[in-house]
Amino acid sequence: MDFTLTPDQQAFRERVRSWLEANVPAEWTSLGSTEVPRADAYELIRRWQRRLFEGGFIGLTWPRQYGGQGLTFVEEMILHEELALQKAPPILNILGVGMAGPTIIAYGTEEQKQRYPAKILSCEEIWCQGYSEPNAGSDLAALQTRAVKDGDHWVVNGQKVWTSLAHVADWMMLLARTDPDAPRHKGLTYFLLDMHAQGVTVKPLKQLTGDAEFNEVFFDNVRVPERHVLGEVGNGWAVGLTTLMYERLALGFGLQVRLRIALESLVEMGRRVEKTGRAVTRDPLLRQKLAQLWIDTEALKYTGARAITKLLRGELPGPEASAGKMGWVETHQRLQELAMEIEGPYSQLMRGSDRAIDGGVWQYGFLRSRANSIEGGTTEIQKNIIGERVLGLPKG
Ligand SMILES: Cc1cc2nc3c(=O)[nH]c(=O)nc-3n(C[C@H](O)[C@H](O)[C@H](O)COP(=O)(O)OP(=O)(O)OC[C@H]3O[C@@H](n4cnc5c(N)ncnc54)[C@H](O)[C@@H]3O)c2cc1C
Repeated sequence: MDFTLTPDQQAFRERVRSWLEANVPAEWTSLGSTEVPRADAYELIRRWQRRLFEGGFIGLTWPRQYGGQGLTFVEEMILHEELALQKAPPILNILGVGMAGPTIIAYGTEEQKQRYPAKILSCEEIWCQGYSEPNAGSDLAALQTRAVKDGDHWVVNGQKVWTSLAHVADWMMLLARTDPDAPRHKGLTYFLLDMHAQGVTVKPLKQLTGDAEFNEVFFDNVRVPERHVLGEVGNGWAVGLTTLMYERLALGFGLQVRLRIALESLVEMGRRVEKTGRAVTRDPLLRQKLAQLWIDTEALKYTGARAITKLLRGELPGPEASAGKMGWVETHQRLQELAMEIEGPYSQLMRGSDRAIDGGVWQYGFLRSRANSIEGGTTEIQKNIIGERVLGLPKG
């Protein structure tokens, strides 16, 4: 990839920088760094996303007629770099912006493309992803949620699980089985499901962190209009994989930026914490660990740039996105573990304790990071993808 910016791209960087300097919410700094929307910050980051939308700094690569800016992935990369520099908050509608919107733009009817993407960007409508089920996670094609045709509607029955943000979502990207007699991958259809429809029940699941950011979702005779099918009936596997491809792209792209934000905050925290009368960051072994994290974060940035080069050439990101996801997981978990090491005995103090360092945000980050190697496809599954599709090894 050529990293030299054109005069227009340079002007874009300056415009983003000055806009962010004036607009990153001051309240955010007190909440500290995190890579995902935290329940206590939902309202703040909803307003933040709305502000980004009004400023024209979200959906940069989406076509203008669907609410985007019609720019390239170079501008998107510049924006993400500047967001990292300013330690900006994440957005609330991450699954909508990262997955639902691009999939609707790729497969939607003109009516669907006019209806949904702009409201995703403005955060007027929050999206969740209804893929995993109690007996279908890594083996997604085993999913059992059924949709049966009834006139000009489909009637949905079944259950999803681990559905992030379902408790605040307006819409779901739903994969359901429409033809139980077809081979597993062929009998699926992708629906846009209204979370406020009759028969949808959301039950929060509490996580290790104490927050309930994901849920069980039950469907009891939920009627979905025919026009809410995305792509063709029976084409759900192809549409669903497009969403997953965007998920891994978003993970590799957006999260390496949040990793840099977390690393800067960690160095800054290390400078404040003292051990035997001097700043922890004076310890040579700890400095090496911090330097290694910086090296790995930079490597992830350039791996992400490779994916962008492919996109600029009009190609789709391939299985190498799995390497980006794995690299991010390993680096981020190591970073959070180092935060606990830096805090020493203070690492036992959580949110709510007067003496917790930075209000306990690092404890939250450490506990939350354990989920990274499961969400978006487990590390074992990413290794299978790399083994089979990058290295050409026989199927496991
Ligand atoms: C924080 C979080 C948020 C999530 N959000 C969502 C969401 O919004 N929407 C959604 O649909 N899902 C979501 N998920 C679910 C996630 O995608 C699944 O948990 C994941 O795909 C694994 O599926 P599973 O939990 O059923 O585990 P399983 O598939 O049962 O796997 C159990 C273990 O077996 C291993 N394993 C399974 N198959 C193989 C294999 N072939 N080779 C080697 N090892 C294997 C796995 O790596 C894992 O260690 C979320 C999960 C988490 C943790």
